[in-house]
Amino acid sequence: MNIQMVDLKGQYDKIKEAVNTEIQKCLDNTAYINGPAVKEFQLEFEKYLNVKHVIPCANGTDALQIAMMALDLKPGDEVICPAFTYVATAEVIGLLGLKPVMVDVDPNTFNIEINGLEKYITSKTKAIVPVHLYGQSADMEKIMEFAAKHSLFVIEDNAQAIGSNYTFSDGTVKKTGTIGHIGCTSFFPSKNLGCYGDGGAIMTNDDQLAAKIRMIANHGQEKKYYHKVLGCNSRLDTLQAAVLNVKLQYLDSYSEARNKMAAYYDNHLNVIEGLEIPARSDNSTHVFHQYTLKVKNGKRDVLQKYLSEKNIPSMIYYPLPLYKQEAFEQYVSSDFSLPVTEMLCEEVLSLPIHTEFNQEVSDFVISEINNFFKS
Ligand SMILES: *Cc1c(COP(=O)(O)O)cnc(C)c1O
Repeated sequence: MNIQMVDLKGQYDKIKEAVNTEIQKCLDNTAYINGPAVKEFQLEFEKYLNVKHVIPCANGTDALQIAMMALDLKPGDEVICPAFTYVATAEVIGLLGLKPVMVDVDPNTFNIEINGLEKYITSKTKAIVPVHLYGQSADMEKIMEFAAKHSLFVIEDNAQAIGSNYTFSDGTVKKTGTIGHIGCTSFFPSKNLGCYGDGGAIMTNDDQLAAKIRMIANHGQEKKYYHKVLGCNSRLDTLQAAVLNVKLQYLDSYSEARNKMAAYYDNHLNVIEGLEIPARSDNSTHVFHQYTLKVKNGKRDVLQKYLSEKNIPSMIYYPLPLYKQEAFEQYVSSDFSLPVTEMLCEEVLSLPIHTEFNQEVSDFVISEINNFFKS
């Protein structure tokens, strides 16, 4: 059995004809840069998300950086973000001369913990970046309230939760990435809406921010060769947009397939002592970018090794808190510590999950996990 974390080949095989046709169209019209597929994707994605503006860009990290650049922050201004996330979230903050203020997460949802955040607020705190980790939304209602109270911008890092719905207490439902002032996402191949290379997008309902973001992503120009601000060159490739135009139509069915696979794991793994299946948030749907277990009693690494000997891949997202990374040394004192983040870095283990459910494979993964805990 050849088991993979993500079965991109199986997925491609089912949409091959449509994808190849769209790619061929791009090759035939040679509009390689900002071709019609890019605009088409922008409009379809705006419709799907029910958001006023989508600004496609080159990747998810660029999306975060451009979002941050659009806010007119000053060097030394502080941006709150979780310490338990992919490096990109905090990296761009530091790159822009801002200070990442790394905070703890909730042990069940893995998302930013809002209670107790007040103590991190200083006169320099200007923004907060919730990350919708593994596929479900952070508690956006509380985050928006907290941000309003302290006049903060909210930038959602939605690279892992595209397609997820968040429900407010008044019943309003919004797609993740469209709730904060700006949302960012990635179309890296293994993401839930992945292209066949790099890609990303920025979302906002604010017309002025949208204009600024579009300008920054395009060398700071609105009119060609007239540059108002220092920007960058960040475009979604036309060929990638062509792929996304096909795959966007399947995004909801892909989320369903991921949920089906997650439910299958849940049903068979929830009985194992020393293992915790992923908790569901009350107010968010889950799109299972990752299916992440908590392995208790210090057994995570031995379980991973055991699975790997059976040719079952698994991943640790993420093994080291951001504040313990050498690159982030300058932002924290040497004894800085966040208890939940540290615990999760020792306990989390993500199993293969994707859109191509195969019962035989899932049964094998489940039976080997059972064997490990029996022995
Ligand atoms: C993947 C990811 C990014 C970065 O996206 P790229 O397209 O790889 O630059 C940012 N934040 C999170 C949480 C991610 O998972």
